[in-house]
Amino acid sequence: MLELKFVVRTPSNKPDLTEVRYDCPCGCKPRARFKKGTNEVGHEHCCCGIVHFAGDSAETHLKSYLDERSAQGMDKEVEGYQFKTLDMDSPEGAKVAIAYAVPNISKKHEEAGHVHSQGA
Ligand SMILES: [Zn+2]
Ligand SMILES: [Zn+2]
Repeated sequence: MLELKFVVRTPSNKPDLTEVRYDCPCGCKPRARFKKGTNEVGHEHCCCGIVHFAGDSAETHLKSYLDERSAQGMDKEVEGYQFKTLDMDSPEGAKVAIAYAVPNISKKHEEAGHVHSQGA
């Protein structure tokens, strides 16, 4: 599956946050932020369908987020996801849990924001 290269950094103007970002193949630069030293979890759902979560129990949050969407009939067009988790170190040396899901069929970058009619 697609391997994403994440960067863990502290945003220069937000020293109390940790940011996890990557360069998405679609051209976007999605980022997830959470507050240091808390169990907050940040996420971004890219226009191409890739979702990443960063922070405590990132994997659990990622899965419940996608379960919730599929319960609402969303994301059928991507035909499922492949999941991956990893740990990285923050600039302060803290462990940062990262989880992401790559759709089996990517959405096109240009289709961002389009609302398609919902099938039954
Ligand atoms: Zn994009
Ligand atoms: Zn993307």
